[in-house]
Amino acid sequence: MSINIALDGPSGAGKSTIAKKAAAKLQYVYVDTGAMYRSIACFILEKGVDLNDTEKVIAALPEISIKLAYTDGAQHVLLNGEDVSDKIRTPEISMGASKVSAVPEVREFLLDLQKNIAKENNIIMDGRDIGTVVLPNADVKIFLTATAEERANRRFKELQEKGDSSTYEEVLRDIEQRDYNDTHREIAPLKKAEDAVEIDSSDLTLDQSVDEVCRVIEETLKKKSADETKSAGEEKSKKSDRKPRKLAPVRPITKERKLGHFHMFWYTVLRVIVNALYHIYYDISFEGTENIPKDGGNIFASNHRSYQDPVFAALPTRVPMSFMAKEELFKQNKAFALLIKTFGAFPVTRGSGDTAVIDTSIEKLEKGRNLTIFPEGTRSKDGKVGKGKTGVALIAAIAQTKVVPVGINFKGSKLKFRSKVVVRFGKPIIPEEIGATSTDTKALKIIKNTIMEKITELVHD
Ligand code: C5P
Repeated sequence: MSINIALDGPSGAGKSTIAKKAAAKLQYVYVDTGAMYRSIACFILEKGVDLNDTEKVIAALPEISIKLAYTDGAQHVLLNGEDVSDKIRTPEISMGASKVSAVPEVREFLLDLQKNIAKENNIIMDGRDIGTVVLPNADVKIFLTATAEERANRRFKELQEKGDSSTYEEVLRDIEQRDYNDTHREIAPLKKAEDAVEIDSSDLTLDQSVDEVCRVIEETLKKKSADETKSAGEEKSKKSDRKPRKLAPVRPITKERKLGHFHMFWYTVLRVIVNALYHIYYDISFEGTENIPKDGGNIFASNHRSYQDPVFAALPTRVPMSFMAKEELFKQNKAFALLIKTFGAFPVTRGSGDTAVIDTSIEKLEKGRNLTIFPEGTRSKDGKVGKGKTGVALIAAIAQTKVVPVGINFKGSKLKFRSKVVVRFGKPIIPEEIGATSTDTKALKIIKNTIMEKITELVHD
């Protein structure tokens, strides 16, 4: 279970700056929900639609995709793939966000995204309705306030530093207007949750506010854990009983080791033959093959549609692949076992959380082979990409190797003769570049979520 901290409060109370610093201190992921509303306002404004025209705003929602990405712990908002993190910080977009956020369909549109992020990560999420609507069961709820004048003062200074020419009076008017909008809208109005701790930051410096927020979080969590232990009576609560998980150390693989010429030669011959056969049997095409690294020792993380997937992912790659296969497949028939072993399969016992599999995977990467992994674990019948397990992230984090996302696409639940199959390869994900240089829980979540997001982007008509 992830730990969720809800941080609500009016515009300009310093929520985002404080939450960002507190999250860095406590090693949580910071989620700025205001940026999501701002991105919607940005899209609507760029489209030239009147923000007061609710019907048109609602009609535009299906054209919008919002994603959060993290680089070195900093949140980036991607609006239809474009990083709009800086562009959405203008007074015009602030006011626009306040308007679109009063539309119930807009709030509904963002709710799942917000809930899902919270489900999978230890987060500090800031907004207006986090403790009341988005995460009513948050572990800690904080309501951060400051007087309107003090908030206007801070925002005014911030805007001046950016070279914005707004006057103090305009900024104060803006803040008061947004306060009014946020507290008077019918849906999810800004209000302190009953069980939230209120912190007034009017007379606190930034560092003092961060310390106070961290103190409230730590104390509330400690108290919660003590209450749980108490209510569990003699039997200690599972949470406090649980031994801390020993995290595997990072041991980046070296890419010096290459497969021998003989091996590579036979693989190339085999690949040409299999490729020709597959082109006869299926109407198959490959996209994004320029993203496939020329060397070996890379992970290919793919969605899972059929038993042919390991071949689909391997056909355009020069370096032989290894892949995990159910243990049962090796027991059925010796000849079959030999065949799949030749093609790089190695056995995995389902549901055993097998650490040997991790070691074998890294061994394969170290030998210079590529490794195909299906993070969903099982095949998807309807083509939708499932949730994904962290195993792939663990291997990538330990080996600190590139992960190439792969999307396998075909219509229907089963492959047939001459089925149209499109296999897409995305840009390699480099753990270091997405700020995942360790194997701690946070780094693994970042890797896993990025992989699943990238795979999902490659699965479409
Ligand atoms: O926090 P920030 O100022 O970036 O938010 C922009 C606007 O988005 C706010 O004025 C508010 O109207 C809206 N918002 C919201 N609910 C949230 C976060 C932001 O209504 N959870």
